[in-house]
Amino acid sequence: MSKVLIIGAGGVGNVVARKCASLPEVFSDIMLASRTLEKCEKIAREIGGDRVRTARVDADNVPELVSLINKFKPDLVINVALPYQDLTIMDACLETKTHYLDTANYEPRDVAKFEYSWQWAYQDRFKEAGITAVLGCGFDPGVTGVFTAYAAKHYFDEIHTLDIVDCNAGDHGKAFATNFNPEINIREITQNGRYWENGKWVETKPLEIHRPIKYPEIGKRESYLLYHEELESLVKNFPSLKRARFWMTFGEQYITYLNVLKDVGMTDIKPINFKGADIVPLEFLKAVLPEPSSLGEGYKGQTSIGCQIRGVKDGEERTYYVWNNCDHAEAYRDAKAQAVSYTTGVPAMIGAMMLLTGKWAGEGVFNVEEFDPDPFMEQLPKHGLPWNEKINEPLPVEETGE
Ligand code: NDP
Repeated sequence: MSKVLIIGAGGVGNVVARKCASLPEVFSDIMLASRTLEKCEKIAREIGGDRVRTARVDADNVPELVSLINKFKPDLVINVALPYQDLTIMDACLETKTHYLDTANYEPRDVAKFEYSWQWAYQDRFKEAGITAVLGCGFDPGVTGVFTAYAAKHYFDEIHTLDIVDCNAGDHGKAFATNFNPEINIREITQNGRYWENGKWVETKPLEIHRPIKYPEIGKRESYLLYHEELESLVKNFPSLKRARFWMTFGEQYITYLNVLKDVGMTDIKPINFKGADIVPLEFLKAVLPEPSSLGEGYKGQTSIGCQIRGVKDGEERTYYVWNNCDHAEAYRDAKAQAVSYTTGVPAMIGAMMLLTGKWAGEGVFNVEEFDPDPFMEQLPKHGLPWNEKINEPLPVEETGE
């Protein structure tokens, strides 16, 4: 029986609220708070049964957060607002001695750069306060870290290469839209790529390296090497990794639109003066693009996200591929969400359950792969995210050559 405060009522917040509400034995009392109260109220109304209370909060404002936490007294805050709010919410959790969980690492607004250093710097303060912070508990980061920990625990003595492969083969019927917050998504894709090789980071130009990768039940899709935040924690927590890369699929139309938007300056994050007001072009672009939470209805097709790993067991080379496929239409039926919000919100709920039921415990700041993967893996199929595995078969990411 625990109280949970969910911050952020967008695509992911909607899924977290619905999934928590469906488990009263774990989440007995739920509050959904966000910048726009009406969005919280709409979700709470649809869930019904007075399961979810709502509040308005500006998560950039620590005193406001502290006052809300002190009033509601949650055991855990689930942060599914934006990465910009990570540190203010962590500050409020410290002040009120409340556990913390998020799905994306901190990014300063004025530099398109994400890294764990800012949040890892809270380690001693969280330890001293006797509370836990779980970082990056969506799908990627999140399940991909748990998959890697599961592989390392059960199938390998040492893991040597890791390729995280993320495919969205869905069609939302819009000319151009992003599946999670447009601002955060476009910042991620338009920055330089980066991967880990032989003890150092190798930098690439944005979307410079790409190849077709074959995804289960989907087939071959052009996949682009990106820098993704879980690579940073995974190479730290699995130092035997000689190479770690992250791949994501994009359709031709998406890339064309993105290139045009970039070329005309619409993805810039430096403010420009327009009719006497300073506006950030990317923030303006976000305002005219569809909201991720609006894409669910009629979205067809599947996502497929997994980890392809090579390493050794008992002196022998082996390969391991573990993945989940998620159907957009099924996600919509279950939680009124498209699969990208769904595959993020379900793991956030499961991470919260792990923490609140004591399956994951510890004082300080943790990435998900530092905990026992087994109870988390056990919960995934029970809440809509079944997973599959293949041992000692050729890795799809390697089939088209290095
Ligand atoms: P949305 O844009 O749909 O939702 C974000 C929500 O946060 C909105 O409700 C927004 O309010 C609210 N918000 C923004 N700023 C504030 C603030 N200052 N105070 C209070 N609330 C605020 O994004 P998503 O739901 O798609 O994404 C949510 C998070 O999940 C992001 O951090 C994203 O990076 C992460 N994510 C993680 C993934 C993973 O696999 N690990 C995958 C996908 C997303 P308003 O409605 O007023 O704008």
